[in-house]
Amino acid sequence: MRLSRYFMPILKENPKEAEIVSHRLMLRAGMIRQQSQGIYSWLPLGKRVLDKVNAIIRDEQNRAGAIELSMPTLQSAELWQESGRYDAYGKEMLRIKDRQDRPMLYGPTNEEMVTDIFRSSVKSYKDLPLNLYHIQLKFRDEIRPRFGTMRSREFMMKDAYSFDLTREAAEHSYNKMFAAYLRTFDRLGLRAIPMRADTGPIGGKLSHEFIILADTGESEVFCHKDFVDFDIPGERTDFDSVEGLQAIFDKWTSLYAATSEMHDEAAFNAVPEGDRLSARGIEVGHIFYFGTKYSEPMGAKVQGPDGKEHFVHMGSYGIGPTRLVPAIIEASHDDNGIIWPASVAPFDIVVINMKAGDQACDDTCELIYAALTKAGKDVLYDDTDDRAGTKFATADLIGVPVQIIAGPRAVANGEVEVKDRKTGARETMTIEAAINRFVA
Ligand code: ATP
Ligand code: MG
Repeated sequence: MRLSRYFMPILKENPKEAEIVSHRLMLRAGMIRQQSQGIYSWLPLGKRVLDKVNAIIRDEQNRAGAIELSMPTLQSAELWQESGRYDAYGKEMLRIKDRQDRPMLYGPTNEEMVTDIFRSSVKSYKDLPLNLYHIQLKFRDEIRPRFGTMRSREFMMKDAYSFDLTREAAEHSYNKMFAAYLRTFDRLGLRAIPMRADTGPIGGKLSHEFIILADTGESEVFCHKDFVDFDIPGERTDFDSVEGLQAIFDKWTSLYAATSEMHDEAAFNAVPEGDRLSARGIEVGHIFYFGTKYSEPMGAKVQGPDGKEHFVHMGSYGIGPTRLVPAIIEASHDDNGIIWPASVAPFDIVVINMKAGDQACDDTCELIYAALTKAGKDVLYDDTDDRAGTKFATADLIGVPVQIIAGPRAVANGEVEVKDRKTGARETMTIEAAINRFVA
């Protein structure tokens, strides 16, 4: 992508409305624009990052055996009347009427709709287990939308829903998502810690919020510090192994970890003082087993091996991609801007032409840009006629992991500079060496 032909509206000034660093940097880097309170457009640079986050989420959902579909944002109120949640949901739900005066709503979540899809076609235990997910916009009329897309009214969610014949089978489905979440957040460059969450009237232990430690987090959290170094389940994890996944779950729930709602002071104090971590955190995911809470009122049942009908046991599993993007920035930035983990960076490499219009600089940059693009890299080429200082500041701000800098003096020697955004380390090398480093 040539910057001269791209749309990346950089802000020079710090936007006053932004209270936390991620919001400030997303606005300054031209990633998002607020359209009305808590409702955002994702501008091209932000959209690239969001797409990469979603690709990783999708990859890990698929690996764990979940199946993608797409459900609409607008839902009919009828389904929600069946489950009893239409009245219970309160003011967070945006209620709309269509031209026939039929009550509709903008979905805050999809348990009812997915249960309806399930009951319309699945009739036998032989079709289970089943886990259906989508990545879709949601609307919740939050009392206090804030921090940009961290807490917005319209936001994106990956929500998966599992269906099983028995509680035991549902636990395995839960553990699949548990392991998938550990892998997902790790690939996004984050350390997320699963913390016990309230199960309400369902009871049991199968509800976890995945929390990232960050000073600007809205939740107060308490956990054992060893979680920071726990091993993440590998690529070869066998999601069909009941014992294998149970072992992962047991390990990751063996130490104390709770948000303030579930905090047990006495249990926390039993952790040796030097191992206690009391911090603030951002909830980036939430998984929940809720048994037959929706299948009973909505009549979602299958025939079991015993020939009888059974209400299915369900769980739901949410991740917030539009919250993850700022969460990643909270975890990875410096005074100059964002530092993207390579896995979600909007571009892999930015080529900076320090003197656009200079024949040697132009030729060198074109050569590098073409070679790296051909090798499958996402390259941003800063071919604008801005001052070199402005270009450096922009490259640092948008956080692309590698900068290749071509200035007249180096280029005259057949060389360019390669800068690592994270460490700031710079290295001068031949043009060929710079290309080879990233093509190999
Ligand atoms: P919170 O406690 O932060 O209000 P929640 O418990 O209501 O979130 P869930 O219903 O568990 O959220 O939704 C699953 C995921 O969706 C959350 O873990 C979060 O990542 C994301 N999410 C929820 N609400 C918002 C929001 N208003 N803005 C952005 N992301 C959100
Ligand atoms: Mg939650």
